Amino acid sequence: TLKGKTALVTGSTSGIGLGIALELAAQGADIVLNGFGDAQAASAQIEALGVRVAYHPADMSKPDDIAALMAFAAQTFGAVDILVNNAGIQHVANVEDFPPERWDAVIAINLSASFHTSRLAIPAMRARNWGRIINIASVHGLVASRQKSAYVAAKHGLVGLTKVSALELAETGVTCNAICPGWVRTPLVEAQIAARAAAEGCSLLEAQRELLAEKQPSHEFVTPQQLGQLAVFLCSEAASQIRGAAWNMDGGWVAQ
Ligand code: NAD
Repeated sequence: TLKGKTALVTGSTSGIGLGIALELAAQGADIVLNGFGDAQAASAQIEALGVRVAYHPADMSKPDDIAALMAFAAQTFGAVDILVNNAGIQHVANVEDFPPERWDAVIAINLSASFHTSRLAIPAMRARNWGRIINIASVHGLVASRQKSAYVAAKHGLVGLTKVSALELAETGVTCNAICPGWVRTPLVEAQIAARAAAEGCSLLEAQRELLAEKQPSHEFVTPQQLGQLAVFLCSEAASQIRGAAWNMDGGWVAQ
């Protein structure tokens, strides 16, 4: 049980972040939500599980907003015991066509934000000698795909940050690990399915089938709930010696 613990999940108003927040709440953790989606609907779902919930609208591309978010979490619930760095965006283009401002945004949100939340969360975790930092990377933290230079660079970087944090915390009760999902059906991926359907003049269903067939041997999506349950396991005592891992849940994507 995670009763009495506080979990901060960035980018948790939809998709994977919301799925993880729901599973942590189901174990009794109080939740700090963040993200640009429907915060009220997400809060209501969490509250229904009988835990406390708070929301902060920090823009994770902005270090000052991140500092305010971390201060808000500490003031509201005491401290952050479980930090899930999940907020992320995608941009798809060849390197030579990639807009530099999109590169900067992807690196800021998918990589630098996790550095800032970690640097601000670690002192209190060290002081309590317990903590869990879970970085939501991607299979793209382990292997590459065309047209995702910023995303692949950020996610490989996030796996690197995970390893360094784990080593620095190795003699404490604070662990740091990355989760590397394959395709999950969320708004982030819906946009890629729609773009593929438009480019190929096919239906959304056909585009979705092709998207899965190209990379994910199971031909099935990973679900936010499954990822949430992996996060719950990483928070358990049984997982206390899992340190610096980049754990893929990907229908076989990186086994190929
Ligand atoms: P999503 O678009 O549903 O969720 C992203 C969340 O981040 C939303 O709550 C959004 O509001 C929030 N967000 C975006 N920009 C933000 C910003 N500047 N500040 C604060 N919040 C911001 O997408 P998702 O698929 O659930 O993605 C969640 C994470 O999982 C991302 O890091 C993504 O890279 C990773 N991931 C997704 C997949 C997939 O197939 N969907 C696969 C591997 C990894």
